[in-house]
Amino acid sequence: MDRAIQQTDYDAFSCKICAISKMYLPSSKELEFCGMRGFSELHMAYAQQLKGLNRRAYGKVQTAIRQGQPLMNYGTYLRTLIVDIECKSFLENAANENSKIQILNLGCGSDLRMLFFLNQYPQLTWIDLDFAESVSLKAKILKKNEQFRNTLGEPQGADDTEYISDRYLLKSCNLNHTQKVLDILLESSVPEVPTLVITECVLCYMDLSQSQALIDNVVSFYETGTWVSYDPIGGNEADDRFGAIMQANLWESRQLELPTLMFFNSVEKYAQRFEDETKHTQIETVWQYYIQQIPQEEKNRLKSLQFLDEIEELKLILSHYVHSKSSW
Ligand code: SAM
Repeated sequence: MDRAIQQTDYDAFSCKICAISKMYLPSSKELEFCGMRGFSELHMAYAQQLKGLNRRAYGKVQTAIRQGQPLMNYGTYLRTLIVDIECKSFLENAANENSKIQILNLGCGSDLRMLFFLNQYPQLTWIDLDFAESVSLKAKILKKNEQFRNTLGEPQGADDTEYISDRYLLKSCNLNHTQKVLDILLESSVPEVPTLVITECVLCYMDLSQSQALIDNVVSFYETGTWVSYDPIGGNEADDRFGAIMQANLWESRQLELPTLMFFNSVEKYAQRFEDETKHTQIETVWQYYIQQIPQEEKNRLKSLQFLDEIEELKLILSHYVHSKSSW
């Protein structure tokens, strides 16, 4: 099962490359507000290195680009944009010249946003954690490219299966082993420093008790922080079959389970995993975000990229994804 979960990283990365190739990403907000100049070039450079190191993963990239489904591209566009904007907002609010800040990306996969934010915020340190296979591949790719190394800082040590520099740590860790996560955090981060924790399509693959242990322990570890999470939800209407169909499809096609999809099946239920007397949680569906936060001009731009007549289907899918933000 862990392997099937780990492989979802290549799906996420393939979808991102596809959204870039079809011009959904980067949005003007990522370019201007988030300072992500060179977004396409960096991702394409990473994809090129992937080609030489993991043919299977690169094959997924090529298939995704060939298929290029607009529904998928809308989803990837919104997911990437939402998390990027949350990172930037956190950094803008928490950063002043002298104060340190930290970002912890749990289940980071091949995500590359650390390159952009480490570049802009000299007082930022970044920790990426994932299963060994993803981490080792990512470390090799990052180490091979001079531009990546320049941003992340020269890697220390000869171990090719992780990346350790003064400001960046990429390390393998099974997130189900909370104590191991805490050991890494204790060694590589500072509990008193304001910290943003990201789980982007990660908690959905974990069991209820293990994901809750992860949340509770990481929140307790840091004095102040914000946790941004993005995940699917199963749906709470009696006649809503979305979650059941999604679970059946994933199991049939790749023996993959989403153990809490039907438990945290609504925005209210999903928010509960972060709620206690110390935390304040804001949550919305991605459809709400699309309707309320994406300006009409940008919606028109998206419409012009590919023909999409399944607007009801888009609404259905995006209504089954949530974006939550909890601060403590
Ligand atoms: N967050 C990345 C993104 O959005 O691009 C990757 C998303 S991918 C769908 C899910 C990631 O979570 C995979 O890289 C997977 O290996 C990681 N993951 C899920 N459960 C994990 C666990 N128990 N330990 C470590 N990594 C885990």
